[in-house]
Amino acid sequence: MTSNQVNTTPFSANGKEYRPPAAPVVVICMDGSADEYLDATMAVDRMPNLKKMAAQGFRGMVRGALPSFTNVNNSSIVTGVSPAVHGICGNFFYDADKDEEVMMNAAKYLRADTLLAAAARAGRKVAVVTAKEKLRDILSHQLDGSIAFSAEKANQTTIEKHGIVDVEKLVGQRTPEIYSAEASLFVLRAGVALLQRGMADFLYLSLTDYMQHTYAPDTEASLAFYEAQDAEFGKMLDLGAVLGATADHGMNAKIKADGTPNVLFIETMLTEKFGAGFRVICPITDPYVKHHGALGSYVVVHVDDPSKVEPAKRWLSEQPGITEVYGRDAGCRILEQPADRSGDILVLSARDVVVGRTAAHHDLHALDGTLRSHGGRYEEMVPMVISHPLNPAYKRKAAGDPRNFDIFDFTVNGTH
Ligand code: ZN
Ligand code: ZN
Repeated sequence: MTSNQVNTTPFSANGKEYRPPAAPVVVICMDGSADEYLDATMAVDRMPNLKKMAAQGFRGMVRGALPSFTNVNNSSIVTGVSPAVHGICGNFFYDADKDEEVMMNAAKYLRADTLLAAAARAGRKVAVVTAKEKLRDILSHQLDGSIAFSAEKANQTTIEKHGIVDVEKLVGQRTPEIYSAEASLFVLRAGVALLQRGMADFLYLSLTDYMQHTYAPDTEASLAFYEAQDAEFGKMLDLGAVLGATADHGMNAKIKADGTPNVLFIETMLTEKFGAGFRVICPITDPYVKHHGALGSYVVVHVDDPSKVEPAKRWLSEQPGITEVYGRDAGCRILEQPADRSGDILVLSARDVVVGRTAAHHDLHALDGTLRSHGGRYEEMVPMVISHPLNPAYKRKAAGDPRNFDIFDFTVNGTH
């Protein structure tokens, strides 16, 4: 594939214009990659290609969307806007009118168009590859005819639904186990294979954070994982891609000094203090419990009796381990949330603390021996690395308050 075959027609999505370069564009969401992971691996010289990207292009920190969860930030990255606009604010929300807990992992809950669909309409060959199947539906919204599949279900693709068959043959690897490093590496290798064969020139590759939930940055398992990612980055750069990498959120240990999980069960605490009538929603809850036991650093509270909202807010904000407490209006403004899918009280916890519902709602035995998680303010700042130098306008932008969901803007518009 020569660069003059790449379509450079501008396109726009959600009020932003994109002027793509005449080169393949690859954006990678390194799920759960707190900057410490890159630092630790680069410190022992095991990410030579990322080091080269940082030296020749750009490396800095960007602010993610809150709550610092996977589908919230992936939705922001493919739309370029905050959860207040695109509506995906977790895996779950509570519909008070219907008295129903609603799972939000579907494109029908997305309230904004994706820039990927806009790129495809403008003539780019778009491909989306995710590690987890749960993200594919949202990310492939309106991407009819483009390639979109997950590593998790790589052996089950059809032309009609995924735009591709025989993915295992393409990648040269069997469908990986979802709780593995290979689940993410498969995504990157698929990206390389699609580039090599000229099957795509505008790619979004979204990894999974099982490894980060399980291993600290300085462990050999983590170092080897990042080293293997870096090898695939190198192949993409060799194929002439403009590469942008960021993360959906960081990751922190959420344990006490003795190594046991540091959990505050908010519904239990409120019920003991104020009586019944509180419903805590943990928007991190998803079917992949081995990662985190549905414990993160953000919950919302629904309160039956409106007169209890203010006292509950005040009391919660005085509890050790709770770092931010908001009512619905202020919370939705400051945390960029959609009001109709939020709660009466929004709660964030400390760097080493997770918040849950009641002990019975969380199976701590499902955890892989430790508790590393995310969701709050302390997993909000994440790295951004771009393979090519930024132009003056985007250098200024990077020095302001850049967001992780500007990654396509920076990679597409900032490098030429
Ligand atoms: Zn994630
Ligand atoms: Zn996670």
